[in-house]
Amino acid sequence: MTTSLTDEYYAALSRGELVIQQCGECRNPIMYPKYVCPFCGSTELGWTSSTGTGTLHSFAVQRVGAPTGFEDDLPYAVGVVKLDEGVQLLARLRPNADGNWDDYHCDMRVQFDTAPDEGRHIAWFQAE
Ligand SMILES: [Zn+2]
Repeated sequence: MTTSLTDEYYAALSRGELVIQQCGECRNPIMYPKYVCPFCGSTELGWTSSTGTGTLHSFAVQRVGAPTGFEDDLPYAVGVVKLDEGVQLLARLRPNADGNWDDYHCDMRVQFDTAPDEGRHIAWFQAE
């Protein structure tokens, strides 16, 4: 579900782009989107393109027991990606050519998949 706070984020994903919030005063990157900068208190927050590269901190492959509405996605992998800008987000991981996630491991380099997502507008990542 989108709100005015996240509209730009989801609109970018639908174009195959990854954006993060950036404070117009102190220039710190912010993720997840906020109304007030957690560093300086400014409300002058904008958006900037992310490099789309980062480090996979952790991930899990969901094989059973998906939340309501996600049953048809099984199996799928969700990971915590720390972007090179220093902020992190929850992302989906593309399966490898064999259709699994056996090649993924913590602390590996990953990159945002710029293929526009027609479905849920999820940030998809894959091995760099
Ligand atoms: Zn700030």
